[in-house]
Formats: sequence, structure tokens, C-alpha cells
Amino acid sequence: MAGQKMLKFTAVDREMPEKRPPNLRKQDFGEIYAEFATAKAAEQASRCSQCGVPYCQSHCPLHNNIPDWLRLTAEGRLEEAYEISQATNTFPEICGRICPQDRLCEGNCVIEQSGHGTVTIGSVEKYVTDTAFEEGWVKPIRPTAERSESVGIIGAGPGGLAAADMLRRQGVQVTVYDRYDRGGGLLTYGIPGFKLEKDVVMKRMAQLEDGGVQFVLNCNVGEDLSFDAIRGKHDAVLIATGVYKTRDLPDSDAEGIVNAIDFLTVSNRQSFGDVVPEFDSGELNAAGKRVVVIGGGDTAMDCVRTSIRQGAESVKCLYRRDRANMPGSQREVQNAEEEGVEFVWLASPDGFEGEPVSGVKVQKMRLGAPDATGRQAPEVIEGADYVEPADLVIKALGFSPEDLPTLWGTEGLEVTRWGTVKAEFGTGATSLEGVYAAGDIVRGASLVVWAIRDGRDTATAILDYLNEAAAVAAE
Ligand code: FAD
Ligand code: SF4
Ligand code: SF4
Repeated sequence: MAGQKMLKFTAVDREMPEKRPPNLRKQDFGEIYAEFATAKAAEQASRCSQCGVPYCQSHCPLHNNIPDWLRLTAEGRLEEAYEISQATNTFPEICGRICPQDRLCEGNCVIEQSGHGTVTIGSVEKYVTDTAFEEGWVKPIRPTAERSESVGIIGAGPGGLAAADMLRRQGVQVTVYDRYDRGGGLLTYGIPGFKLEKDVVMKRMAQLEDGGVQFVLNCNVGEDLSFDAIRGKHDAVLIATGVYKTRDLPDSDAEGIVNAIDFLTVSNRQSFGDVVPEFDSGELNAAGKRVVVIGGGDTAMDCVRTSIRQGAESVKCLYRRDRANMPGSQREVQNAEEEGVEFVWLASPDGFEGEPVSGVKVQKMRLGAPDATGRQAPEVIEGADYVEPADLVIKALGFSPEDLPTLWGTEGLEVTRWGTVKAEFGTGATSLEGVYAAGDIVRGASLVVWAIRDGRDTATAILDYLNEAAAVAAE
């Protein structure tokens, strides 16, 4: 019976939910894709060929049971689809919106490989969970029994929140500490609303608070409260602090040259309606300016598209490789181009002019022979330099971890040579007894879905640790 509803990929074309036209969407920070209508979600889900070995699932970091929830969606059994989807993913509505599906589940869908166009897995996942919220199927966190043990989580990003959710559902007392005034980490202050509207994140924060998770916000661990104090208060601690140290360029401190994370945080605060002096003063505001963004990753894409929405006079993105070799999602490049961003490929910054900044010195590049990894290294084309005029330059060159052992005075906390916290694969256990780590602070700058995976795995390991300690105490 199920088969009759499925395998429609030859008869039904791939369709994404409707995208708002660029001239409208660039006037606000709302998401650009509409929700699927119910019939359309069922139709798109019915394209799945129900593979015996589903590559979509094996390439989803959470190993979501995708074929099953696609079939249930096609059959109109949405509540069951939601139950299956949320069993492996703490925040499916968030992943459905912002996972780079072209590199994960959808990029590995067999019907994409056979040239028919992937099943729109992410959009169906979003639709199913948004519907579950609307219909009241998303269950509140109500542990069946309370436990006496407590866990302190440092960092309220997706890694910390996924762990908080799992631990609290098991009755553990959970306190999450964060230096920002709102939870969500980069979901709240990094990723712009046109990819992930803020009320989607705040809904999850409210669910966690309602379920008994305690939040201690505006608390910079290492300054306002020591790591040892947190360790002393709780039976186990999870470090999920992400990576925030901006990779920099030499001699780039003239007025008007800013870091991507500062620019995006201010813009997100503005979207919340906060009073933001750096925005009002024009320091971190692209309105009326010639903006140059340096970098080719997702952060750069978010900066160019934010600048457009703030009313920049022009927005250019400089990247030292070409389009095919950029790390950012091709879908985001296309969205940015539709909105009026100009990409300058094979262009590398070689200094700045003016104080305040008036231009970026640009070296034109070409791609050389592939290195040992097969990646072509960019080489300078001599004599092809020029100056790109700019009033605002945004550096989006990636992030490294802060030096936690020094900042927190915890010499026993081992880190790797890149500065990320050394944690056991699969459990997140660190070199300190009862201390675990998850998300970007372990992996380096990565993805939301991997932070969720780590948070869930680490919560399981922490529960085992608490259970073992309880068993020893009972002997
Ligand atoms: P974070 O989300 O960084 O959260 C860490 C939290 O720890 C923060 O709230 C921080 O305030 C807090 N913290 C840090 N230090 C302290 C301290 N000393 N005391 C108290 N609190 C502290 N991924 C995707 O999958 N899709 C995307 O589209 C995408 N877009 C991105 C866009 C941008 C601009 C950026 C920067 C990243 C993007 N990412 C994206 C990556 C993704 O956001 C991260 O991989 C993910 O958020 C990591 O989760 P986390 O929980 O490890 O850390
Ligand atoms: Fe795809 Fe991400 Fe959902 Fe996994 S969590 S199915 S990778 S959108
Ligand atoms: Fe369906 Fe594609 Fe996954 Fe196969 S790989 S189960 S067709 S979504």
C-alpha cells in the first residue's frame, strides 16, 4: 500500500517551497522560503524511492530515519512522521531550515544521483515540525521522575541545548550558563533571520525553560563565574562554548574594517528590537555604504545578504578561489546574486587604503596545480592589482577557538594543537573527570547539525557517568 504512494520521482518534478522574489525579500529579515502547502509536502515526499540502503540517512549526521517520515508524510500521517523525525533530532525545524542539505542528505539522495532531482528532504522536515508545533504535537519536557544530580552546561548554542533537552527529559537538574543575554548561541546572534527566524529559536528556549532547565545568562564563565566554581556546583559539566576568535588580516584595524561576527550580532540584535548604539552610530551598519566582504564561506554569505537588507549602496564579495572551489553553499551564492551581490572571484586582499577605510588593495589570482589533497592553490597574477573602493570592509575569514585553559585557569583541560578541546570520540569525555565537551569547541567551526549530534551523544555519556556514580554510591 505504501508503495502506491511512493516512487513518484519520474512523474513528479522536484519543487522547493516558493521563494519570495528578491525585490521583496531584500526589504526585510524574514525567511525567504514559504512553507509547503500540505498537499505539496505530501506530493514532494512521495517522490522518495524508499531505498533499502538510504544514502540520505547515512549522510545525515543524526542518521534521521528519512525514508520512514517521507512515507508517512506522503500518506498524510503527519503526527507519526513528526514522532519519527524528533526521535533522532532535537531541533528538526532548525535543521530543515539551515542544514547545507546539498552537501548532506539531499546531495546523497539516489534520485539526485540518477538525474531526477533530489527529494526536498529539508523542506519536508521543516514542514512536518512546524505543523507539529501548530497542532500541539510537540510534547513539553516532563520527566517522569526527578533525579538529584545536576549538570552544568557552559554555552547555550545548539550543542549545549540539545544536551540540556536530553538530560532534563531524564529528570536531571540542568543549569545552562551563557555570556549572552539570550540563549541559542549562533542560532540567535550569528545566523540571520532570512535563514532562520528568531522566534523559531526562542520557541525552543521557552520549551526548555518551561521544562525546568535553568538559564544563567549574562554570565561569562572565566570572568563572572569561575570554571572551578561551576565544577564544584555540579556532578558533571559540559563545555559547549563554540569558537569565536576571528581569523584576522594584517594591518586591518582602520575605522570601517570590522569582524563578521560583530556585524552579524549587531544586526540580529537590531532584529530583536534592542537598542544597539553601534548600529545607530553607523559603525556596524551598511546603510548607504560600498561594502566589501572578504571570504567565501557561509559567514561571508550571511554578511553580504545582511548588507543588502541594511540598504548598502553596493555589496561585493572577494574570494581568492573560484565559484566551484568556495566553501559556502552554492544555494546561498545563488540567493545572494539574486539579491544583487556581486562576487569577485580569484581576488585576494593585499592591504587597505585610507583612515577611515576607503578601499581594499586587491591581488588577482589564478588557480595553480592541485596539491596533495587535490585542491588547487591560488597563485598571484603579477601586475594585475587594483583597488576596490569601500566604506565598510567585513572580514569573514573563519573562526578559531579561544584559549580556554588560560582563560579559565584550568591547566588540566587538554586541548589539541588547534586549540580545540580534546574530547573522546562518541562520548565527549575530556581529560578532566566528569567534564565533557561538544560542538564547535571540539570540532572547530562546523555545523548546527553536528553540534546537535554531539550534544545528544554527550548527554548519553553523561547519563551513563551519573548512573555509574549512583550505582557506586548505593553499594
Ligand atoms: P555556538 O552556537 O557558538 O554556541 C556557543 C555558546 O557558548 C554561545 O552562546 C556563547 O555565548 C557561549 N559561550 C562561549 N564562551 C562562553 C563563556 N566563557 N561563558 C559563557 N558562555 C560562553 N551552520 C549550519 O549548519 N548552517 C548554517 O547555515 C550556518 N550558518 C552560520 C552562519 C554564521 C554567521 C556562523 C558564524 C556559523 C554558521 N553555522 C551554520 C555554524 C553553526 O552556527 C555552528 O556550527 C553551531 O552554532 C555550533 O554550535 P555550538 O553549540 O557548538 O556553539
Ligand atoms: Fe538533512 Fe540536516 Fe535533516 Fe539530516 S538533519 S535530514 S542532514 S536537513
Ligand atoms: Fe528516498 Fe532519496 Fe533517501 Fe532514497 S536516498 S530513501 S530516494 S530520500
